Amino acid sequence: MTTLARALEAAATLGLARLDAQLLLLHTLGRAQNERAWLLAHDTDLLEDDQRAGYFGVCRRRAAGEPLAYIVGRKEFFGLDLRVDRRVLVPRPETETLVEWALDVLPAAPNARVIDLGTGSGAIALAIKTARPDARVEATDVSADALAVAEANARALSLEVLLRQGSWLADAPGPYDLIVSNPPYVAQEDSHLAALAHEPLGALAAGPDGLRDLSAIVEQAPGRLASGGWLLLEHGYDQAPAVRELLGAAGFGSVTSRCDLAGIERCSGGKWLELG
Ligand code: SAM
Ligand code: GLN
Repeated sequence: MTTLARALEAAATLGLARLDAQLLLLHTLGRAQNERAWLLAHDTDLLEDDQRAGYFGVCRRRAAGEPLAYIVGRKEFFGLDLRVDRRVLVPRPETETLVEWALDVLPAAPNARVIDLGTGSGAIALAIKTARPDARVEATDVSADALAVAEANARALSLEVLLRQGSWLADAPGPYDLIVSNPPYVAQEDSHLAALAHEPLGALAAGPDGLRDLSAIVEQAPGRLASGGWLLLEHGYDQAPAVRELLGAAGFGSVTSRCDLAGIERCSGGKWLELG
């Protein structure tokens, strides 16, 4: 028998951050992730043997590098409680910058048409639909596995998003007022990929320079945007100049970038204006 306080201390010896240990203990006890205060108030409670085994099992998975979100099966994104597992990328806080920008440029009139390319868990599309229930939101992914996760999230949140399997804009006729995407953007030889080995490689790696998918989307978007529509893209920490260049060369105007909370240029976008 061990107390909750001792179980948390033991996790530290495995190298776990205290916050992770607390969240894993709450998960093991079947309690909500926001009940850390409850843990503090019960630190002399005893763990049953099977709870103890379950807790140290998940601690070992975390210590081996598995994202906490996969172990607990959930991730909070833009205030939404999303289900996630190894079929999808774990939504990142920096992607909230892209959602905020999307909401800023989405036309105020009802029925604005939006598509989220490479939706994964559905994070971006579902966040936009929550903030703008009047918008017509579509989302695509090339991965049927990812679409199954996005669909489960849409259903659990009672949000209506049109999900479609396809490669970027190939099967999405448009026109759209907004195209938004967080595509794979890590260079295939980037040593950083090793730290992301638990997540799907198809959600991360994008050719020798990481720009393969960003440039494919920039190339396809003009044929699908309404005049005055925006294309907004998330990209890597050092890719903003290259993405602005791609947007400019494709004929986009108002090309600019936005920083994430860490002050890194994390998204770039432009506005499509039909001439004449
Ligand atoms: N939008 C989610 C988010 O921000 O958390 C997931 C983004 S993840 C970086 C990129 C997604 O793009 C993955 O779900 C992957 O399956 C999808 N993807 C990769 N290649 C694609 C393609 N050719 N067409 C559409 N989606 C693709
Ligand atoms: N932001 C992810 C990272 O940790 C990469 C996601 C992506 O390729 N879009 O680098």
